[in-house]
Amino acid sequence: MEVITTIKEMKEHSSRSRREGKTIAFVPTMGFFHEGHLSLMREGRKRGDLLVVSLFVNPAQFAPHEDFKNYPRDFESDRKMAEESGTDILFAPEVSEMYPSDHQTTVQVEEVTRNLCGQSRPTHFRGVTTVVLMLFEIVMPHVALFGEKDYQQLVTIRQMVKDLHMSVEIAGMPTVREADGLAMSSRNTYLLPEERRAALSLNRSLRKAKDLLQQGEQRASRILDEINGILQSEPFVRVDYIKICDADTLKDVDRIDGNVVIALAAYLGKTRLIDNLTYRNPISPPTKAQ
Ligand code: AMP
Repeated sequence: MEVITTIKEMKEHSSRSRREGKTIAFVPTMGFFHEGHLSLMREGRKRGDLLVVSLFVNPAQFAPHEDFKNYPRDFESDRKMAEESGTDILFAPEVSEMYPSDHQTTVQVEEVTRNLCGQSRPTHFRGVTTVVLMLFEIVMPHVALFGEKDYQQLVTIRQMVKDLHMSVEIAGMPTVREADGLAMSSRNTYLLPEERRAALSLNRSLRKAKDLLQQGEQRASRILDEINGILQSEPFVRVDYIKICDADTLKDVDRIDGNVVIALAAYLGKTRLIDNLTYRNPISPPTKAQ
């Protein structure tokens, strides 16, 4: 595996690979790898002749009060894990390489970023789409892999690619969980033992919601009440939002008669975690995100 830190070198490598007729698969990340990241890399390995993984903690997607400075970082461990998962190139630029001091262009996807995390993190998705567009320009992938764990991010990137007529395939991959159901996240490392225990209620509440859906419950309010009840009974959990949305438009639904995503965000102490469940109505066509 080669580590590349400059945009020039990364572009040269990708251009050469494309000229040689190679398919480039790309996994953008912020590092501190866990099985969720590795599952994307393994799938990328299968889909591309060249597998590029980027490791870049993107300041533009953090608000000033958020955890950019403290975001967990461990380059040596990440380097090793990426290599073991079959990565050919780890692209790890400095912030000044990606955002020179005169940088002034951003990309904003409008409607699908308004709800859910967009309400508590109003500048977050602009930061994500801006960096992902830059990374696509630099890495020039044929296919890029993203986790459904960040469902709104996946929908937003698909929308950007569609709206801007970009030539990259977006592949969504299932959420990888710990054995006890907690969705893997680099931020889980922040959790104190009692917060880690309480965090299990996120997945537990979504599983309960799934049971209700499978029993035929169609009233969103009824399911939201149930989830709220489970989360509110945990003293270490402070709910940011729980919503049931159309799986494609991410608009709230009252009645569940199509494909939906049940998405939630909650604080465990200072740590904000997200999780979601997509539910495909048996008679509806597939969602765009999957
Ligand atoms: P991050 O480093 O958190 O920006 O994540 C990089 C990529 O890994 C994104 O596409 C995430 O959606 C994906 N990812 C993060 N956690 C998981 C997980 N538990 N399961 C599957 N994919 C994940």
